Amino acid sequence: MQPINQYLSSTLKSLRAEHGWSLERAAKETGVSKAMLGQIERGESSPTIATLWKIAGGFSVPLSLFIEPPSAPNVVVRVADELRQQPAEDDMLVAPLFSYDPEFGFEMFELTLLPGYERYSEPHKTGVTEHVVVLDGEMELLLDGQWVTMTKGSAVRFAADVSHGYRNLNAAPAIFHNLIHYPKPAAESP
Ligand code: MN
Repeated sequence: MQPINQYLSSTLKSLRAEHGWSLERAAKETGVSKAMLGQIERGESSPTIATLWKIAGGFSVPLSLFIEPPSAPNVVVRVADELRQQPAEDDMLVAPLFSYDPEFGFEMFELTLLPGYERYSEPHKTGVTEHVVVLDGEMELLLDGQWVTMTKGSAVRFAADVSHGYRNLNAAPAIFHNLIHYPKPAAESP
């Protein structure tokens, strides 16, 4: 089993146990099929980031919980080039720069949208905010029902507890940082 699949499998199993949810209930809450959830738990499937985002949403936990545990030391050096991964056949590459840590209340990714990528995000938990900073290329964000063009160097903070979206209609990849902040009684599992 790939390390990422292994981490994902054990996280999903323990979350489901903590919630006391059957596979059926988890499928209902996340919108991901029972069969797919079962495959993930057995390490037989490499889900797309879109699927992981649905699962995280259904359990009200940060996405990075499914990718990597937070690093403990006071000084953490992370190199996106070494962390970038492309789960499944997704057109989004993900580098988990800082995984969610309840002490800090946020997770931070470097995300790459390959040409043609388009995704609508379900609303996150109440009070969640996203901070998007474009590092390279050009992309669009769906904010308040309108696609807003973001060029290199643009930064935006938006309430992510309403539906929003990301897309790249250009021929070159768009790379951005996304810092996702979770409100106080953080998105910890009960
Ligand atoms: Mn989002």
